[in-house]
Amino acid sequence: MKVLKFGGTSVGTVDALRNVKYIVEHQQEPVVVVVSALGGLTDTLIEAANLAAKNDIGAYRIVQDITTRHSEIMNTLIEGEQIDDALNRVRALFYELSNAYTDISRNEELTEADLEEVVSYGERLSSLIISLIINDATYFNSLEIIRSNNHECDIEATNTNIANTLGKFKGKVAVMGGFISRDSNSRRISNLGRGGSDYTAAIVASALNADSLEIWTDVDGFMTADPKKDPNATVIRQMTYQQAQEMCDKGAKVIYAPTIKPVAEKNIPIWVKNTFNRGAVGTLITND
Ligand code: ADP
Ligand code: ASP
Ligand code: MG
Repeated sequence: MKVLKFGGTSVGTVDALRNVKYIVEHQQEPVVVVVSALGGLTDTLIEAANLAAKNDIGAYRIVQDITTRHSEIMNTLIEGEQIDDALNRVRALFYELSNAYTDISRNEELTEADLEEVVSYGERLSSLIISLIINDATYFNSLEIIRSNNHECDIEATNTNIANTLGKFKGKVAVMGGFISRDSNSRRISNLGRGGSDYTAAIVASALNADSLEIWTDVDGFMTADPKKDPNATVIRQMTYQQAQEMCDKGAKVIYAPTIKPVAEKNIPIWVKNTFNRGAVGTLITND
């Protein structure tokens, strides 16, 4: 089996999600699909939290926009009879999100716990919706699987949970949210740090001894530099875990730095591939 991770830009629009659906439905072997929140949504959720803390009704306007954005995607990509059931399941999350902002407004202060709760809705919404868009996919709730302490994965507890859930799954496509977790001590909702969906995917790949980890993003592979800053950047066809780790540590955000170690330890190859250019070879990261 393989683990496929799709980042925010890969799941941000209807057209992008059509690519994701195509890629996942054309896999030959069973896959676990790890998804980020819709592109830009985590920042938007934080912005609304700051407004709510100032009692600014702008927070509710943002909740309305978030509701519209997700609903439009569902109405376009979920077929016939399934749409009503899907909208009902997702509506419960919109309702909870709105209540979370009401609580922040009432307290007129924004705690770390509040912030961790509201940002979690990004991946909770995207993972549920994407599991409904992809044919024959099964949804897994990351909040029941991924455990963390201070934004670092609690590997022991998490591996036990993975073995008891995804490890027993006999279907072809499992879908779960990246980034989000529950704190091992407080049991509160938490996360693995900004950009952490890559790390979720690596933890799952390692626990399940996956054949490979594929990071699907918006560039043709791991490049010599950030192509947004350096127009002469070129794709690196093959690199070692160590080379990738060094570049990630220096800020190459194409892969979140803590991602490399869990898969390198198990010698699981990492592919970096472009959701918008499936034909491109991408980058292969291995031991040699
Ligand atoms: P995702 O939403 O898929 O997680 P990110 O925005 O986190 O995507 O990472 C992809 C982005 O990383 C690219 O669009 C690119 O601008 C940036 N980037 C920075 N350094 C590199 C690099 N060395 N190679 C490729 N992309 C890089
Ligand atoms: N949605 C989270 C973020 O924007 C995690 C991720 O995209 O990997 O940081
Ligand atoms: Mg990323």
